[in-house]
Amino acid sequence: KLHNSIQDIKGNIRVFCRLRPPITEQESLCMNEFKFMTDKTLEISKSRGSIVPAGNTRGPEKLEFSFDKVFDQCTLQEEVFEELSQLIQSALDGYNVCVFAYGQTGSGKTYTMQGGIDLREYGMIPRSVNLIFDTKEQMEKKGWSYKINASFLEIYNENLKDLLDMKSGKTLEIRFNEGKGTTVSNLTILEISSADELLEIMVKAQENRATAVTNFNEHSSRSHAVTKICIEATYQESKASYIGSVTLVDLAGSESAKFSSDDRLTETKNINKSLSSLGTVLMALHKNDSHVPFRNSKLTYLLQSSLGGNCKCLMIVNISPNEHCYNETVNTLRFASKVK
Ligand code: ADP
Ligand code: MG
Repeated sequence: KLHNSIQDIKGNIRVFCRLRPPITEQESLCMNEFKFMTDKTLEISKSRGSIVPAGNTRGPEKLEFSFDKVFDQCTLQEEVFEELSQLIQSALDGYNVCVFAYGQTGSGKTYTMQGGIDLREYGMIPRSVNLIFDTKEQMEKKGWSYKINASFLEIYNENLKDLLDMKSGKTLEIRFNEGKGTTVSNLTILEISSADELLEIMVKAQENRATAVTNFNEHSSRSHAVTKICIEATYQESKASYIGSVTLVDLAGSESAKFSSDDRLTETKNINKSLSSLGTVLMALHKNDSHVPFRNSKLTYLLQSSLGGNCKCLMIVNISPNEHCYNETVNTLRFASKVK
């Protein structure tokens, strides 16, 4: 192994929580030192890694939610990535790494994963890509060679869509076998030779995703976007080789939307199904259960070989400082505390 495996992980699932900064005047006015104008507060303790939402409880009990790391609203992308970099690098050592952004719509998932166009605002995906190619370059000097490929897909309403091939209409099907792990039939997988090339293709995939629908915001809040980077490492001398991967998932909004029309109801059920299946799977993995129900949703089935076994998983739970989101924030914190 090239890098030390991460020693300080208890189990192989870590959960971080990130509060986004206020982005409107109204949000800024509402929030002063994590206290809303009303009796609701979010007490954030970076040192304890915990969040206490007060004002939600009926009784006198205080809920405290603990995480492996808590990021307040001032946290820069760079600081979040610092906590991820070792994890990402372990993919070059043959681990399957999975990073999720979980949270309600508007809580900062896409900002965390993709970020802005400004270098400082780069999110976890472009930073991971740069780190992978930088590390590759260093290791090549030491006699290793790498093959890196990438794919981009979306899960919407329990259907998979290839973001690099929106036209052919080929059906994507998830297959799992012990040897190869999870594969997706007909999915476009491109071999990539540089970070810039990968980032360009990623932008293309995002454009494809956005132009295929009329209301992108609504669509993105109902679908999961999955970026997967596979890394095959070979040591020239011994020809020893192994394969690792990084899967980065911008999940559908976690809000329990209530809709009246039947179409929407199915959609909502499907979103809830995949998010609750994800919770169940992570819980089962954490408890070392003998049966992990991967096949209960497309999302968990797709991620089977990135979640079980030789894997490292991180969930970034995003929360909003908007007072109107308070109840949903508490739901999010509850979900997150259950997976670990
Ligand atoms: P989501 O993907 O969860 O729906 P977004 O990532 O789109 O949420 O975030 C909602 C808004 O908040 C966007 O305008 C985004 O640019 C902004 N935002 C989110 N997180 C941050 C942050 N850490 N710093 C600055 N702006 C942020
Ligand atoms: Mg988003």
